[in-house]
Amino acid sequence: MEQRILKIALDTPLDFAFDYRWSGDADLSPVPQAGHLAAVPFGRREVVGVIAAIGEHSDLPQDKLKDVLAVRTQLAPLSAAWLALCRFAADYYQRPLGEVAIPGLPKNLRALKPLSLDRALKKLAKEESTHDATPADMPVLNAEQQQAADAIAAAEGFAPTLLYGVTGSGKTEVYLQAAVRILAHTAHTRNPAQILILVPEINLTPQLENNVRARFPGVTVATLHSGLAEGERMAHWLAAHLGQARIVLGTRLAILASLPHLKLIIIDEEHDPSYKQQEGLRYSARDLAVWRARQLAIPIVLGSATPSLETWHHAQSGRYRKLELRERAIKDAVLPAVRLIDMERDKPAEGITSTLIAALKRRLENGEQSLLFLNRRGYAPVINCDACGWVSNCTRCTAFMVLHKPENRLRCHHCSLELRIPKSCPTCGNVDLQPLGRGTQRIEENLQRVFPQARILRIDADSTRRKGSAQAAFDSVHRGDVDILIGTQMVAKGHDFKNLTLVGILNPDTALFSHDYRASERLFAQLMQVSGRAGRAAQKEGGSASEVLIQTRYPQHPLYGAVIAHDYDRFATALLEERAQAGLPPFIYQALLRAEARELPIALDFLQQASACVEHPGITINDPIPMTMTRVANVDRAQLLVECASRPALQAFLKVWMGALREIKTRARWSLEVDPVDI
Ligand code: ADP
Ligand code: ZN
Ligand code: ZN
Repeated sequence: MEQRILKIALDTPLDFAFDYRWSGDADLSPVPQAGHLAAVPFGRREVVGVIAAIGEHSDLPQDKLKDVLAVRTQLAPLSAAWLALCRFAADYYQRPLGEVAIPGLPKNLRALKPLSLDRALKKLAKEESTHDATPADMPVLNAEQQQAADAIAAAEGFAPTLLYGVTGSGKTEVYLQAAVRILAHTAHTRNPAQILILVPEINLTPQLENNVRARFPGVTVATLHSGLAEGERMAHWLAAHLGQARIVLGTRLAILASLPHLKLIIIDEEHDPSYKQQEGLRYSARDLAVWRARQLAIPIVLGSATPSLETWHHAQSGRYRKLELRERAIKDAVLPAVRLIDMERDKPAEGITSTLIAALKRRLENGEQSLLFLNRRGYAPVINCDACGWVSNCTRCTAFMVLHKPENRLRCHHCSLELRIPKSCPTCGNVDLQPLGRGTQRIEENLQRVFPQARILRIDADSTRRKGSAQAAFDSVHRGDVDILIGTQMVAKGHDFKNLTLVGILNPDTALFSHDYRASERLFAQLMQVSGRAGRAAQKEGGSASEVLIQTRYPQHPLYGAVIAHDYDRFATALLEERAQAGLPPFIYQALLRAEARELPIALDFLQQASACVEHPGITINDPIPMTMTRVANVDRAQLLVECASRPALQAFLKVWMGALREIKTRARWSLEVDPVDI
């Protein structure tokens, strides 16, 4: 008989691995290793955790040590590199290891029931065979694409690369042809390479998945995103873990996948805010990806037409290599002309100016598609009473209830409260309540009146709630069944619409004056990206030149000037200078402590104590303040921003601080976010 002490990471809020005893006969049952999953008793429950380390001794007395119930030795252990990644993320984001390592595992692995690996893998094989593998031709790369693909395929060791290519420059093709070569290098070795490709939106995976499958017939492709059914997730996760999947495509959560033979990471649209998880473990998949690439000493490619300022800064300072694609890839496809429509001169009727209506009309006559972008869903953001000034405030949040006309409801987008639309003003009884402002539903309704023959489709979170409906909607656009597409940021990203020659941007001004210092970076990227959906094919004979029309009340604003000039460089350089002078990221590092409670003073009081509980030389602790949207779902929220010029110094402080914070007696719930993006 042998005995081992297993240190097991469990998905609990407690910040350590738990000791359990394993005893067995090594001749009869395989000895557990770090990275194996193990079922253990925990309180009155039985749970599955990951063996983080194995030792001979425990600090616990023998009679307190519980026995492991079972070790899943039939599943190859998660690798040391994977455990190191989880450990790094846990450390860096100040969360328990188990909270990083466990939730990403498929549910069936986390359950106590016996495993059937065969069944899961058969499911994948069946899925594979339903995809028709008609190999697609590889287009001949243009000179810049070729250089980029060569450079990526030839890179050795940790080689972070920014692939900076204008919208439509064919970045995907560069990734795929680099991937072809990396896979070919190792195809006949014992451990063929795996490649991880991350995309920001689940809706972009099918498009890329089709491209990848067409390009790599016979290669197992796994996808990992939150839309998978449990059985699919299990099959795809296993294919990645067992090294069978050569290409793994996924959204941010895929960065924590087990990929034992990972040789290249690609992050498409690396600037996209979706790479940041906004709850629980608030990680940046992009930052973790760079760490993972460094640890494995492999190349990583960050692709974008509008890189994040962090990445741009690294490229400018030479830490990342910059590869540039200046032209659109398709012959004669050119970037659209961007024009501003001054709304003071051309007064919009129902949210749309006559200039934009005329441009839409031309597209309809030419049989071309148009896209109207408005980042506000619902019918109207608020309803009000002209007589007494009543507005539809949410009773539980510092926010308006949004009018949703198809369902005849008022809805709070923050706490999901739903109400029937009042027949009359709750304060004065006036029956004439007015919708104020416009969301996508109202624009759709109005356009259908102006263009009764047009096939109009709205794509936003409301119109795509059913599983598969977003995909069906995008398919119908690609098939040409849609003349005018109206949508929120869902339609702005990555999509390769071939017949689209007009983009109208309805109401971007509000973001110009936001209190959030990142708002202009985000707005600029969004405008460049949505503009980039136009003119992705060559102009047809007799067809219209592609254009982007932006409706604004501030036509002089320099941000719009940079969009018109398609000049990311100049804009980014100016923003970086501002950030350097103002002492903002990426020149300093931040962490945000949030507190919430039934009453604001409780949250503020906790933050006050937090700001004074440890010495903090070299660290700036700002005053606690209520969050801009103070109340959500009857809970008041406040925050405290911590800043430091050195990342290691900030990290060292946070470690000590977390310990002290846990000692504070408070009724507030609190959480810490490292590198916050919404302040
Ligand atoms: P990006 O991601 O840079 O915005 P995409 O990768 O979507 O651009 O490519 C834009 C379009 O150009 C796609 O339709 C793609 O098939 C096409 N394309 C890419 N490279 C080439 C090439 N070398 N020759 C012809 N077409 C290309
Ligand atoms: Zn009233
Ligand atoms: Zn609410």
